[in-house]
Amino acid sequence: VAAVAADGRILRRARFETPPRPTPAQIVHRIAAAWSEVVEGLAAADRPAAAGLAAPGPADAPRGVLRQAFDWGWRDVPLAALTSAAIGVPVQLDNDVNACCLAEMRFGAAAGVQDFAWIQLSTGVGGGLVCAGRVYAGAAGLAGEVGHLVLEEDGPPCACGGRGCLQALVSGPAIARRYAERTGGAPGAAPAVFAAAADGDPAAEEVLQAVARDLGRGLALVVNLLNPALLVLGGGVMESLQARLPAVRAALRARVIGQANREVAVRRSAVGYDAALLGAAVLGTRSAGQP
Ligand SMILES: [Zn+2]
Repeated sequence: VAAVAADGRILRRARFETPPRPTPAQIVHRIAAAWSEVVEGLAAADRPAAAGLAAPGPADAPRGVLRQAFDWGWRDVPLAALTSAAIGVPVQLDNDVNACCLAEMRFGAAAGVQDFAWIQLSTGVGGGLVCAGRVYAGAAGLAGEVGHLVLEEDGPPCACGGRGCLQALVSGPAIARRYAERTGGAPGAAPAVFAAAADGDPAAEEVLQAVARDLGRGLALVVNLLNPALLVLGGGVMESLQARLPAVRAALRARVIGQANREVAVRRSAVGYDAALLGAAVLGTRSAGQP
């Protein structure tokens, strides 16, 4: 929870731990406590008149309803109204990835860009689409699930229940699993694979080259479908993969059609870890009636 100035500066912030499988009341209670902590430390002139909320699942933004939070077992929770009642200002809610797109447009790598895809690589692979200057949510708020584009029929199992999805090939857990399969060891964590490659471990190097290639193949599907001007790549795994961006680009360029698609820009996220938080602030300006 943070108070954010109009130029994107974070004035004050407070954090809380999310309990395992929380109820809506537990989450709203924690948000309200953190909100008080933030607001009480602000000068009166800086106190927010409205708030935005970046929610972890598909959302019905106009109604302020979180349709589903997969990890929490929630369905159709009117989280904007519940939060607004607890903190006393209007609350505008949207899906967290859509919020990240808004932050990148307002403050980050996609400033002034009308058509781009935002892709986050961490423990999962998420994505959001901006078409003609607007976040494209789809009919049920499910658009942009780049992580579940299928690259390999009968490939490794994915958290969605399918197989061979991009997420099952390039997410942090997928990188750890691929390395374990390659070496016959127990799966560790992705940072250990990056560290091993930096130390000259050929198996780790091979896995990361394959990951870069698979990421490029996945991005090519996005580019061929949407013809974006820009791909913004964020998330912890992407930070570690920065050095391999030329290999990602090569795999991408080899598979896209048309010169315009080959010229698509690829940039790292400029809002980074705070993307969803800053996006929530942009949503807040909407509930305050600002453009
Ligand atoms: Zn999947």
